[in-house]
Amino acid sequence: MLIKLTDHPKAKPADETKLTFGDLFTDHMLIMEYTEGEGWHDERIVPYGPIELDPAAMILHYGQEVFEGMKAYRAVDGRILLFRPEENFKRLNLSNERLCIPLIDVDKCVEMTKKLVEIEKDWIPSAPDTSLYLRPFIFAVDPHLGVRAGHHYYFMIIASPVGPYYPEGLDPVKIYVETKYVRAVKGGMGFTKTGGNYASSLKAQYEAYEKNYSQVLWLDGVERKYIEEVGTMNVFFKIDGEIITPTLETGSILGGITRKSAIEMLKSWGMPVSERRISIDEVAEAFDNGKLEEVFGTGTAAVISPVGELNWGDKKIMKINNGEIGEISQKLYDSLTAIQWGKAEDTFGWTVEVCK
Ligand SMILES: *Cc1c(COP(=O)(O)O)cnc(C)c1O
Repeated sequence: MLIKLTDHPKAKPADETKLTFGDLFTDHMLIMEYTEGEGWHDERIVPYGPIELDPAAMILHYGQEVFEGMKAYRAVDGRILLFRPEENFKRLNLSNERLCIPLIDVDKCVEMTKKLVEIEKDWIPSAPDTSLYLRPFIFAVDPHLGVRAGHHYYFMIIASPVGPYYPEGLDPVKIYVETKYVRAVKGGMGFTKTGGNYASSLKAQYEAYEKNYSQVLWLDGVERKYIEEVGTMNVFFKIDGEIITPTLETGSILGGITRKSAIEMLKSWGMPVSERRISIDEVAEAFDNGKLEEVFGTGTAAVISPVGELNWGDKKIMKINNGEIGEISQKLYDSLTAIQWGKAEDTFGWTVEVCK
C-alpha cells in the first residue's frame, strides 16, 4: 500500500476532556478505488483533505453510499485496540450487497484499518471514555445521470478523535415513540448502514427535538405497532426479568455489533435474552403493571444508553426506573467498556491489537 505522510501535521487537541463527536479529523485518510473490470485497486494512505468529484458523480444524484462506524481505543496498558473490526466489514458487505456496490475483502480491510490507526496512533486520546472514531465508507463516483449502479467507487476511511457521547455521563435519555413517520419497511434498506436511511429520519428527529426528546423510537412501517430501533441505536427492554430486543428477521433493523455483543454478554451471565417481535402495546402494558424494569439503547458511539422516559405519540408517557440507570444497563456498560479499554480480560476474544 502506498503511504504518503503529511508535511503539515495538525496540532492535536489541547484538552482531551473537551472532545466532541465528529468535528475534528486526523492527518491522514485511506482511499481505495474500484473500477469495473479491474476490481478494487490503488489502496493508499494520504494526507487528509478534500477530494475532487465530478458534479455528475453518481453518489450526488442517486445516493449509492454505504458506511460503517467503529472505534480504536487506547487501552490502560498503552496497547491500541479495535473492537470486533471484522464484524464491521462483514456488515459493510451486507450493505454493499443490498445497494449493488462491489463487495470488499474483509480481512484486507481489517489490515488496512490497522495500518491507518497505527499511523494515526498519536491521535488516539487517552482521557477516560475517549477514543478514535473510524468511519469507513464507499460511494459511486462515475459521472453519469442515467439510473444504474456505479462502475467506479471510492472506499475511504477517515478518523476522528471523540469524547464520551454523553459528556454529562450515563444520564438516561428521553425518547419519543414515533407514530407519524417510519424509518424502514420489510424489503427496504433498514438493515443496511446507508446515508439514505439517515436522510429520511431527520424530519422525525427534529420534531422530537422540538418536544424536548433526544431521539425517536421507530415502530414498524406497516402496522406502526412493533418496535424497531432508536435513531442510531438498537433497543432492549427488561420486562419482569426477561430481556427482550426486536428480532432482525424483519430486515428493517440495523444489526448492531454492540447489540450482538450485549446479547452474547448477557447470555454468558446466564440471563434470558429473547430476540423477538415486541409491540409498543406490550411495553405500555408492562409499564402499567409495574413490570417495565429497564430500557436501554446499544451502539458504538454511546455503547449503552439508558432510557429514562418514553413518550408514545403524546398519548402516554412512561417514566422508567424513576428516570435512573438500571442495574443491567450499568453492568453492561461497565463490562463492555472494560473490554474495549483493556481494563478487563477479554474472555470473548473481541479485541484486536493494532500496536503497543
Ligand atoms: C450503526 C447503527 C446502530 C448501532 O450499531 P453498532 O454496530 O452497535 O454501532 C444501530 N442502528 C442504526 C440505524 C445504525 O446506523
